[in-house]
Amino acid sequence: MNDCIFCKIVKGEIPANKVYEDEKVIAFEDIEPQAPVHILVIPKEHITSINDINEENSDIIGHIHLVIKTIAKEKGINEKGYRVVTNSGKEGGQTVFHLHYHLLGGRNMMWPPG
Ligand SMILES: [Zn+2]
Ligand SMILES: [Zn+2]
Repeated sequence: MNDCIFCKIVKGEIPANKVYEDEKVIAFEDIEPQAPVHILVIPKEHITSINDINEENSDIIGHIHLVIKTIAKEKGINEKGYRVVTNSGKEGGQTVFHLHYHLLGGRNMMWPPG
């Protein structure tokens, strides 16, 4: 999608602090970190939200989880714990309409979230 900032990050048109990349996904630091570790993991393909997951593209979700696991280990938060969040739609708190997973760690997480 042309006006999607995450698609622009995928294409290298907007800079990002990348921490991981392969043929299907990239991961980069959130520009407004909410925790000492705050990484966004996104599919390179434009998928708007979980609402757009189907039989054809659902393999990406498992792959994203493997990438999250790898990054959590690299960042040294895999043992202490971390949170993975994906917001869907306005009431879900989604602000960028390209599917992304927030990996948050390095501090105690509260429940329920705001
Ligand atoms: Zn996009
Ligand atoms: Zn988000």
